[in-house]
Amino acid sequence: MKGTVYKSTGSWYLVKTEDGKAYNCRIKGKFRIQGIKSTNPVSVGDIVHFDIDDKADEVTGVIKEIEERDNYIIRKSVNLSKQTHIIAANIDVAFLIVTLNNPPTFTTFIDRFLVTAEAYGIKAVLLFNKIDSYTEEEKDEIRYLAAMYREIGYTCLGISAKTGKNIDQLKEMMLGKTCLFSGHSGVGKTTLINKIEPTLDLKTAQISSQHMQGQHTTTFAEMFDLTMGAKIIDTPGIKGFGVVEIEKDELGDYFPEFFALKQFCKFNNCMHIEEPKCAIKEALEQEELFWSRYKSYLQILEGEDEHYRTDIYPK
Ligand code: GDP
Ligand code: ZN
Repeated sequence: MKGTVYKSTGSWYLVKTEDGKAYNCRIKGKFRIQGIKSTNPVSVGDIVHFDIDDKADEVTGVIKEIEERDNYIIRKSVNLSKQTHIIAANIDVAFLIVTLNNPPTFTTFIDRFLVTAEAYGIKAVLLFNKIDSYTEEEKDEIRYLAAMYREIGYTCLGISAKTGKNIDQLKEMMLGKTCLFSGHSGVGKTTLINKIEPTLDLKTAQISSQHMQGQHTTTFAEMFDLTMGAKIIDTPGIKGFGVVEIEKDELGDYFPEFFALKQFCKFNNCMHIEEPKCAIKEALEQEELFWSRYKSYLQILEGEDEHYRTDIYPK
């Protein structure tokens, strides 16, 4: 039998087959873990093959194989052993919900999200929410931001979870896909998901990521079917994407517009900082690249964690 893991509670996995039947499955004996060493061999989103365990009183399953993952997001555990925990696998699209105010989402935060998505190999989409609430000036800023990220190659959509504006378009993007939603607390994630699926009562709503920060949580990711024909992976207590370790010399590769120009840098190990004949610096001087992206690049390179508002408008 073949199915997808919807929930994991440590030793038991809820696996749904294509016909919608759910089975409680476990792993028996030694299990070969592909590719990555993690505290959990199987994660939410995994496609698994399992056998029905006849000997058990109720119908349960025994997982015998995991299909190779398209991608997966991880978390490093807080203890000293720094073990990796796979939060979720096989995500088709990661949406970042962005608001200009209440709360502000800075470009450095957006860029960190995009870099992480690139590193994980997950398609990222920016959703500019609360467009019903902006002044003309703020709308201009949103338009500028969306145009910038579109030019780099990211899909952007202005929406209102409150009025329902462009929600049909969003649903079209989600159709048939496994989706992940991230964003600062207060950007409207709960409102949006309720708009898409009024009957779905995500736990995320109560577990605000704000007060979970830094605490050890025992909450697990969970996948939900939406009646519109898509899946949502909810990751309570996990801010955005979890962590991904990016080597400094490969960071530029996760800025697609930098990556495209890198071949024209004089040095093939160019970090695009002070090197002579750097194609990225030259393109920036010609205003062919966006300075806010470069500022984010430098900030991530320096390992700074705070996000600040960058002056995104051209000088
Ligand atoms: P979450 O923390 O991301 O889950 O955010 P919530 O869904 O709880 O929303 C935070 C606040 O923003 C609430 O007061 C919502 O009513 C409001 N909100 C969410 N979406 C919109 C929107 O599209 N327009 C406006 N004006 N307010 C919104
Ligand atoms: Zn360079």
